[in-house]
Amino acid sequence: MPVLVLHNIRSAHNVGSMFRTADGAGIGRIILSGYTPGPVDPHGKVRKDFIKVSLGAETFVPWDRSKQLSPALKKLKAEGYTIVAVEQTENSISVFDYKNKPYEKLAIVMGNEVRGINKQSLKHCDLAVEIPMRGKKESLNVGVACGIALFTLLKK
Ligand code: SAH
Repeated sequence: MPVLVLHNIRSAHNVGSMFRTADGAGIGRIILSGYTPGPVDPHGKVRKDFIKVSLGAETFVPWDRSKQLSPALKKLKAEGYTIVAVEQTENSISVFDYKNKPYEKLAIVMGNEVRGINKQSLKHCDLAVEIPMRGKKESLNVGVACGIALFTLLKK
């Protein structure tokens, strides 16, 4: 099953939104890395802002944590995953041009709302895909980008 990796996402609303989308798009597991908030805070209290947006999706999609991104990506690589960064980089190709690999072994990485995915972590990714922007803004909200990327990369 495809894996979604959420690295250093700041907003619990965005993470909740991506959990709901991941469930809808057929993601089998979510890895939260760095400081990305989960459905429960460090004191064991349910995060209201998270579950308000996820609407319970965290009970359907298994998830775990990795303190750092690079070891998580190395592990996925060793398990035979193709790692796709959803990011605008010098070498990124349009997500609409991505030629589907068997999607059971795809790991899809989303980055921080302001800084994106850092260069060091991008080195562990097999390729980067971007969503072409047609207006004046240079990027999309991470949850919106995630929705477009998941349903495009995982289309049957
Ligand atoms: N680097 C962006 C800010 C990050 S947007 C900037 O310079 O403005 C937050 C995250 O959303 C990114 O890490 C990426 O995963 C995703 N994202 C947003 N817009 C995107 C696009 N047009 N193509 C691919 N990913 C995008």
